[in-house]
Amino acid sequence: MRLYDSMSQEKREFVPRDPDHVTMYFCGPTVYNLVHIGNARPFVVSMVAKRYFESLGYRVTLVENITDIDDRIILKAIDQGRTAAEVAAEFAQAYREDTDRLGLGRPDVEPLATEHISDIIGLITELLERGHAYQAGSDVYFDVDSFEEYGKLSKQQVTEMRHGARVAMGEDKHAPLDFALWKGAKPGEPAWDSPWGPGRPGWHIECSAMSLKYLGQGFDIHGGGRDLIFPHHENEIAQAEGARESQFVRFWMHNGMLNLSQEKMSKSLGNILTLREVLDQHRPEALITVFLGSHYRSPMEFSEEVLREAEQQVDRLRNVFLELADRAGSAASARVSAFQPGAEVRPAGADGTTPEGVTAAGSTASILQKVATRQEAFADAMADDLNTAAALAELFGIAREANAALAAGELDADTAAQMRAEMVKMVHVLGLDAVAGGNDHVPDEVAAMAEERQQCRARRDFARADELRTTIAQCGYEVRDVPGGYKIVRTR
Ligand SMILES: [Zn+2]
Repeated sequence: MRLYDSMSQEKREFVPRDPDHVTMYFCGPTVYNLVHIGNARPFVVSMVAKRYFESLGYRVTLVENITDIDDRIILKAIDQGRTAAEVAAEFAQAYREDTDRLGLGRPDVEPLATEHISDIIGLITELLERGHAYQAGSDVYFDVDSFEEYGKLSKQQVTEMRHGARVAMGEDKHAPLDFALWKGAKPGEPAWDSPWGPGRPGWHIECSAMSLKYLGQGFDIHGGGRDLIFPHHENEIAQAEGARESQFVRFWMHNGMLNLSQEKMSKSLGNILTLREVLDQHRPEALITVFLGSHYRSPMEFSEEVLREAEQQVDRLRNVFLELADRAGSAASARVSAFQPGAEVRPAGADGTTPEGVTAAGSTASILQKVATRQEAFADAMADDLNTAAALAELFGIAREANAALAAGELDADTAAQMRAEMVKMVHVLGLDAVAGGNDHVPDEVAAMAEERQQCRARRDFARADELRTTIAQCGYEVRDVPGGYKIVRTR
């Protein structure tokens, strides 16, 4: 597998530090607000990368922090007459709920900055001992001049960077580029005890301390949005390598930013578009498809239209999964009743209208060959710096082959089952399991109602049967009558 590294600015063969274990750290949100749709992109990228490495057989540890102490949290707390801890707890919980809805699972560790104060103090102490930091009043600053390689990630010269740097009011640092590791508490601010008096950590030191704690020096992949390269990631490198004197991270992985079509999308909502709002209006699979439809390093257009298009793609894909399940005859979604008088019990899909069993061995072989070719292309795309856009295209390609073969009556049950199984693996890597799940998981009560409805019909109690159909529809399912029985189809 080849992965682009923003430090060396090239794709390099990815070999993890430990032979069978991939270690990843992604910068998570600062929790002072509902997460913006832009914050969802690194979350999706990190979770899909984790799934991909797992599909290659690696064990993966993904750490994604939550910044729960920050100026913006403190300001919001003052504004609302609450404590900073209350504000942070509320929005950390909202972040977990909103990202849970994506159905991608969670990172393995989601450390909170405020729960790692002693680790942070420990790292600052190391930096002071090594001469990379100094105390100024009740603050501690990193001494940028003490770290010769400063600027190596963002490819900037320190002399040039100095022009843009400012010293803010109340800061007592020696040079404009120096940055706070520890901030002495101002009256009324949340504070923790430290060797330098009560205060709180700077933002950058938090990520160095927590990534080193959970993954150790020289871990495999550090990721986040491109906008974090400078100063955040530059500072993380200075801190970690200044303290430990060895390479901090093997690969730097940065995702591109979102271009929101302002007039189309955010005008009516102000300038903030939250993940929650998007997921209230669109299926998570559609949003994931939008993200994966662009290479993670590219900037991407994001609009209502793009989402709607993705929704249609996802629907078509879901239908192919349903049709394949029907043809395979093994899906839990497709049930055939034994209670319809005169109907013989047959597997779903074998409704007597499809030319089952007449498929020529040759066409089956050629379909499976096409699937194998596309699968190989899918694997190659993912191995080429996680080219999910190309991988998605192969998945949609297989779906088209399946559709054509189904329409032509060329798929026997075994081939349909095999195609479906291969597609399930692909959608799993891409985090689109819900598309394949379709209605594999019909709730028991829905299945029971459908069964009861069938019995009502058998004894010609059509009023009760219609009632049940309505109730089933309210649960988001539709009962379709097919020759020999019925099937249950999820409608939302
Ligand atoms: Zn960070």
